[in-house]
Amino acid sequence: MSATPKGDQGGTREDATKTKPGYFGPFGGRFVAETLIPALDELTHALETIVHTTGFQTEWRDLLAKYVGRPTPLSDAKRLAHSIDPAGAFLKHLYLKREDLCHTGAHKINNALGQALLAKKMGKRRIIAETGAGQHGVATATACALFDLPCEVYMGAEDVKRQAPNVGRMKLLGATVIPVMSGSRTLKDAMNEALRDWVTHVGTTHYCIGSAAGPYPYPELVATLQAVIGDEARAQVLAAQGALPDGAVACVGGGSNAIGLFGAFLKDDGVALYGVEAAGHGVHTDKHAATLTAGRIGVLHGSKSYVLCDDGGQILEAHSISAGLDYPGVGPQHSYLKDTGRATYVSATDDEALAAASLVARTEGIIPALETAHAFAKIGDIARELSAARGRAVSLVLASSGRGDKDLATYLERLEVFRDAH
Ligand SMILES: *Cc1c(COP(=O)(O)O)cnc(C)c1O
Repeated sequence: MSATPKGDQGGTREDATKTKPGYFGPFGGRFVAETLIPALDELTHALETIVHTTGFQTEWRDLLAKYVGRPTPLSDAKRLAHSIDPAGAFLKHLYLKREDLCHTGAHKINNALGQALLAKKMGKRRIIAETGAGQHGVATATACALFDLPCEVYMGAEDVKRQAPNVGRMKLLGATVIPVMSGSRTLKDAMNEALRDWVTHVGTTHYCIGSAAGPYPYPELVATLQAVIGDEARAQVLAAQGALPDGAVACVGGGSNAIGLFGAFLKDDGVALYGVEAAGHGVHTDKHAATLTAGRIGVLHGSKSYVLCDDGGQILEAHSISAGLDYPGVGPQHSYLKDTGRATYVSATDDEALAAASLVARTEGIIPALETAHAFAKIGDIARELSAARGRAVSLVLASSGRGDKDLATYLERLEVFRDAH
């Protein structure tokens, strides 16, 4: 049942972290309206009988090659590594898996295209999605344009105002954007509204979830579709240095680019896995999105996982300078990887991410997405710690999840402030 025909992983990807069906240890499950259970069963069946077939994989990989631009390159970030560790004492190599070079500028298209292709094969005639910053909405609208599927995107009314360029992109791509007026008018309200729509139109509609979250089988479906990141990266690092990396690092919002990278290394005990969350103004303030670092176990978006909530279990508003990490939940597999100790989760503040983005731009000629900048911000700490444990300089692979064109306004505004303050 491995997502790819590659032979060197042995066994199935899911075995390593899954316990009873639909769960990752105590996390995951389906906390949804009864009426959605048959649709989730249908999707679980489709994951087994469609996604894992050679026919689907061949068609999808052909699309990834000719439309998305895969395989994405692996870049050896020599100048950045040198500026983090001039003496070469603890960081030997920093490899970047260049998802920023995907069509539409981030890894999200891998999942959106895969789900649109699956929906088509399942005979669904309409796609719905939720979006916060609009990145997943744009990826879904892109896939729907390509497959000639009507696309409706739920977006909090507040986000519609804040993310005007992405609203424009979705409309240009032929999608309908539905502003959600309930609650705080942000991502979690858009998710609730999308689930409500799905309940009503479940026979004809596919709900395209944008991260490795949501009720089962979504976390597994999205991880399967993003596994291409880690599968390619593992082979590319092996080719580059003749050995596996010491560690793999990715930013974590809902957790899809991270689980996509981690998947290929889950069984490689020598590869340490690090997820970097958004600490916003700091994890000790009430303005952050560090769900795994500072959250507690609860239910959000149909699954049990770590969430940001108050004593009464009410979901709290998350904060991050990066819209893609600004989510009060996290995919259930990450909660399990945290509790079992297989992966380590750390966090970077808004200011640390901004400083890292500026450093990456000047040393590598790559303007990273603000989300990705969080992962870059922790490379020094991670390399130092891992090197101390292993008694030698280490090599790391980082998921460069997206490009920063969309964040230019924030960079110009905030990096000015940053310069003034220093
Ligand atoms: C959406 C987004 C993320 C966060 O989503 P995950 O599901 O955690 O990967 C990270 N990076 C970029 C560039 C994004 O657009």
